[in-house]
Amino acid sequence: MSREWRIKSALIVIALVASILGGVPLYRHRHYRTPVVAGPGVTKVIKLSEFVPSLKGTMADADVFILEGKEPGGKVLVMANTHANEPAGLLATIIMIENAVVEKGTLILIPEFNNSGSLNTKPGDGYPLYYDIPTEWGRVRFRMGNRDASPLDQWPDPDVYIHYPDKKLFSYLDVRNTNRTWPGRPNGAVMERVTYAAMQMMRRDKVDIAIDMHGAETMFPVTNCIVAPDKSAKIATLTAMTVKAMEGFDNHVEGSPSGFHGLSHREIGDFSETLPFLLEAPIPFLDQPTGPKTVKLLLDGKDPFLLSLSKKKKLFVSYDENGWPMEKRVGQHCSVSLEIIRQYSKKNPDKAIRIQGIPRYAEIVKNGVGHYFHDPRKADPKSVYHE
Ligand SMILES: [Zn+2]
Repeated sequence: MSREWRIKSALIVIALVASILGGVPLYRHRHYRTPVVAGPGVTKVIKLSEFVPSLKGTMADADVFILEGKEPGGKVLVMANTHANEPAGLLATIIMIENAVVEKGTLILIPEFNNSGSLNTKPGDGYPLYYDIPTEWGRVRFRMGNRDASPLDQWPDPDVYIHYPDKKLFSYLDVRNTNRTWPGRPNGAVMERVTYAAMQMMRRDKVDIAIDMHGAETMFPVTNCIVAPDKSAKIATLTAMTVKAMEGFDNHVEGSPSGFHGLSHREIGDFSETLPFLLEAPIPFLDQPTGPKTVKLLLDGKDPFLLSLSKKKKLFVSYDENGWPMEKRVGQHCSVSLEIIRQYSKKNPDKAIRIQGIPRYAEIVKNGVGHYFHDPRKADPKSVYHE
């Protein structure tokens, strides 16, 4: 063998070894699932593909947990992991799936709305592949996801993403961003089909309230807030005032700009009778000027660079040595959702929704998120789902 061929062969071997070493953890991540115990309130579990059959069998299909009360009433849909790198909403919906009992009305929960986004991560940005939530009976491991759907599930990207139906131009990447593809269409890109499936569910089942749970950087002005269009603004304002007065945390209201298309808080309201609310809890992990993107930062939200920026008044939330821990973010999502439901029920007694078993802010901050998770080894295997 010539010297040139020896070098070429060695380079091929090095490339193969590097691909295998890099690829195996990503393959395992894509196929890892977290067991979730459907609690006593879950009456039915369906798939998003029921509304768009072409999603069936794809990694973009998602479980929809339905909790129906004995008494008829209003209907509320809660979606999490629209952006799968903002996991407080996922943890809040899992607390709801495992613990909520609906007395009146219906609670619909989609913990992994952008399921494909949860199956890839951002190794180039140094994201961890997993994070663990401690419980009294062990640790529960979750995948750390990405903002966008995986290119393995939706590819190639266009040069420019043209939003349907209003033809607004977006960055090419937003075609895989499930909060830019509302209201979607049945034969569009995969993420357009995901949002269309949710729209069809809201229209068919006459859902009254839709809550889309997110996280936002502390340096981004639209953080720690409820984003609401005009039709939801009154309930959002009453919610923000009540949680401040009764539970002691800030959560202001931001209006949904009428010309900013593709977002859940805009299009759900414009294309259905449903009242949309988008919840943003601060997530220091996503801020740019932080230390390494560790699991610790994801969970406790403590970062020395953000602390010094806070002293210079560069952040849009109050921030101190205590960071912004996951318990606070999950607690906010639970309390704000419950308060939106309560305010809606007060205004619409014939379509009231009454739910027991979901802890509020102070309880989650005190007990931790994992306190509300159930041990799948002790549960009836038929009630264990893999998310
Ligand atoms: Zn988001």
